[in-house]
Amino acid sequence: LDPNPERLSPTDREMERVLRPQSFEDFTGQEKILENLSIFVKAAKLRGEALDHVLLHGPPGLGKTTLSHIIANEMGVGIKVTSGPVLDKPGDLAGLLTNLEEGDILFIDEIHRLSPVVEEYLYSAMEDFKIDIMLETGPNARSVQISLNPFTLVGATTRSGLLTSPLRARFGINARLQYYDAKLLTTIVMRSAHILGCSISEEGAYEIARRSRGTPRIANALLRRTRDFAQIKGNGNIDKAIAQYALNALNVDENGLDEMDNRILSTIIDKFKGGPVGLKTIATAVGEDEGTIEEVYEPFLIQEGYIMRTSRGRECTELAYRHLGKINYNKGTT
Ligand code: ADP
Repeated sequence: LDPNPERLSPTDREMERVLRPQSFEDFTGQEKILENLSIFVKAAKLRGEALDHVLLHGPPGLGKTTLSHIIANEMGVGIKVTSGPVLDKPGDLAGLLTNLEEGDILFIDEIHRLSPVVEEYLYSAMEDFKIDIMLETGPNARSVQISLNPFTLVGATTRSGLLTSPLRARFGINARLQYYDAKLLTTIVMRSAHILGCSISEEGAYEIARRSRGTPRIANALLRRTRDFAQIKGNGNIDKAIAQYALNALNVDENGLDEMDNRILSTIIDKFKGGPVGLKTIATAVGEDEGTIEEVYEPFLIQEGYIMRTSRGRECTELAYRHLGKINYNKGTT
C-alpha cells in the first residue's frame, strides 16, 4: 500500500471514482467546512453568481478532489480538472479558461506547483475574469484582452506554506481539511463496503478505520485488500478477526503505522540517536523521496505525537521509543 496519490494504479483510480460521495449529504466528517460551504453555495445560487474561489488544503486522501466535485454538483455546474505540474505554459491555462461556461469550476490540484508565469497569468483571470492572449510572435506580436465567463477556481494543496501570498489572497474561501477520527472512518468504511457489496461487521469496519492513518483513501484501500483476505482466508464476511489478520499481513501495525512510518521512526532512533536530523538525511536513509515524507508521512507522525519538528530538524518523541520497544538513552541528558 502506497499512500502517495501520485502512485495510484488505474484500478485504484477507478475505485476512488466509484466510492466518491456525490453530495454534501453523502460526505462524512469535516462538518464545519461543509456547513460553511453549503451556505456559500446556497447564497451564490440565490444571487445567480459564481461561487467565490475556494482553496482546500490538507494532506492527501482527505477529500479535496471529492469536495471540489461535490461543489460542482451542488452548484449545478460543470467542472474541469487539472493540476499545477501539468499546466506548464500560460497557453495551456488560457485554453482551459476560455472553455469554461458561466459558473463552471476549474479544479487545480497541487496548486502550489504552478510555474510562476502560469500563476501570474491566473491572477487577472481570478480577479477580473479577463486574460491577455498573445497574437503572433516576433515583431508583429501584440496582446489582446479577452473576457472570460465568471468561474470558480478550486485549488487544492498539500503544502499551503508553499503558496505565494498574492495567490492565497485571491481565494475568498479557505478551508483546511483535518484527519478523520476512527468513528468517522468507520462510517466511511461501512458506506464503501455497502457500495462494493461486501459484507462487514461494525467491529471489522472499526478495526480497518482505526488503522487507516486518519485518511479515507487509505481506509478504502485497506477495505479492498481486507475483502480479498476475507474471501480467500475466511467466509467472505469481514469481521474483526479477519480484519486483524489482513492488516497484520499488510504490515499495518496495531497503531495504524505502516512499514514506512516505522522505518522512518527506527531510522531516526537507530542511526541518528533520535534526532534532531534533517528531512533530506532521513529521506536518503529510508530511500523515500523527500517531498513524500514531508507531505504524506510526517504530518501524521507529528499529529500522533511520534515526531517533533524543531528548528534543528526532526526528533523522535518518547512515544516513538515506546512504540518500537526501544530505550531512549538521551533521556535526561538533553
Ligand atoms: P484528496 O483530493 O484530498 O487527495 P480525494 O478527494 O481524492 O482526496 O479522496 C480520496 C478517496 O477517499 C476518494 O475515493 C473518496 O471516495 C474518499 N473520501 C475522501 N473523503 C471522504 C469522505 N469524507 N467521505 C467518504 N469518502 C471520502
